[in-house]
Amino acid sequence: MAEIILESIVKRYDKLVAVKNLNLDIKDKEFLVLLGPSGCGKTTTLRCISGLEIPDEGRIMLDGRNVTKRRASQRDIAFVFQLYALYPILTVYENIAFPLKAQKYDKKRIKEEVAKVAEILQITHILNRKPKELSGGDMQRVALGRAMVRRPKAFLLDEPIGTLDAKFREEMRVELKRLHIDIGATTVYVTHDQVEAMSMGDRIAIMNQGVLQQVGTPYEVYSKPNNLFVANFIGSPGMNFINCVPKKKGGKLSLALEKDDILIPLNKALASIVENEHDSKKLVLGIRPEDVSFSTKKSDEGLDVTVYVSEETGSYNIIDVNLGSQKVKVRTLPTVKPAIGDPAYIELDMNRVSIFDKESGGSIMK
Ligand code: ATP
Repeated sequence: MAEIILESIVKRYDKLVAVKNLNLDIKDKEFLVLLGPSGCGKTTTLRCISGLEIPDEGRIMLDGRNVTKRRASQRDIAFVFQLYALYPILTVYENIAFPLKAQKYDKKRIKEEVAKVAEILQITHILNRKPKELSGGDMQRVALGRAMVRRPKAFLLDEPIGTLDAKFREEMRVELKRLHIDIGATTVYVTHDQVEAMSMGDRIAIMNQGVLQQVGTPYEVYSKPNNLFVANFIGSPGMNFINCVPKKKGGKLSLALEKDDILIPLNKALASIVENEHDSKKLVLGIRPEDVSFSTKKSDEGLDVTVYVSEETGSYNIIDVNLGSQKVKVRTLPTVKPAIGDPAYIELDMNRVSIFDKESGGSIMK
């Protein structure tokens, strides 16, 4: 098992800096997901961990040993590509035995090692089958088994299920997560799919343009995003952003919407954060659609809106409303079906909001 520490990693391709000063501690037995849009440096980071790329700066520690300059073959790390790509003419046994055969292990040893791995993965009963006779989940187990027989310290997976159709991907996600729990090996998993990241990762490291934006549990990155990028990238639909500035009226601090005569009153905790900001400081109030409530009846706290459009998903509806000149998405029960243009009211759960500095994009929450 392995702890992987990345210290100030920089990787350049000519003038392009693909990974910029990355610091990341991946704990022993952890399932860490590297998440971010295409080109953000996820694969480059994974290749640096594996030894397929050597970073230009920084250190990579594997279980306390500096492996920065070691070749991939000297690192005891398995880089697993597509999990369903097995040799079709070989049986499950032969597929798993393949790397050991290549290393010229004797037959008895190969039999023992394959049996051990098959027992952990619970695939002993299918060792004589060919890949075409396997379910998707079993195929994944076999592919991992092929990597496991080499007894790697960690598994690196680069979009292993990315090209599968949505339904199959869902099944594979569950299987992979369960497998990780059963095997308990340190795993670094690359994806650009935030749903996959949220559902599988113990922690998620979110990257953008080569820079690590935030690392945290799915709950942390969802409810306490470090910046606007993370707030927008995580969640579907993403967080609502309302442009505003601080405004004091009658001794009470509120947020005034940019361009509209609308005030959002702040509770004590938020007021103590915002009062440190300059009067004209441009801020962004972030709130998730499920933290906004929708009503056609006026209430004390309700903000006047009009319905712009509603989208049905079956299990819930997303209603887009106009709050002054800005748009807000509200998540409601599927039974809420207002007509376009209807006047309505929304309430924001101020215990669940984030506030960002518009210019830097960083959160000002403590
Ligand atoms: P994707 O999901 O599209 O694979 P990614 O987040 O994994 O994206 P990387 O593949 O790490 O991103 O690429 C990061 C940046 O480095 C990109 O701009 C890419 O074009 C560039 N890059 C990656 N590999 C090379 C290479 N061998 N030579 C030159 N540029 C490269």
